[in-house]
Amino acid sequence: MAERIEVKCPVCGREMEVGSEVHKFYGAVRSAPRATSIYKEKTYYFDSKACKREFEASPEKFVKE
Ligand SMILES: [Zn+2]
Repeated sequence: MAERIEVKCPVCGREMEVGSEVHKFYGAVRSAPRATSIYKEKTYYFDSKACKREFEASPEKFVKE
C-alpha cells in the first residue's frame, strides 16, 4: 500500500494528502497539494499557488513553533 501523509495548507487550513497513489484513490475526498515551499528546512504544502505566494511573503505569520 502506498503511504499517505495528511497535510494542511498553513495559509487557509485546507486539508490535503501527499502520496504517490493519492490522486487515483482519494482525489474526490482530499486533493493533492498544488505547490510546496521549504522554510527552515521543513516542507510546507499548499492547495494553490496563491496560498504559496502569501506564505512566502511572510512565512513567520503562518508557522507556529
Ligand atoms: Zn491554502
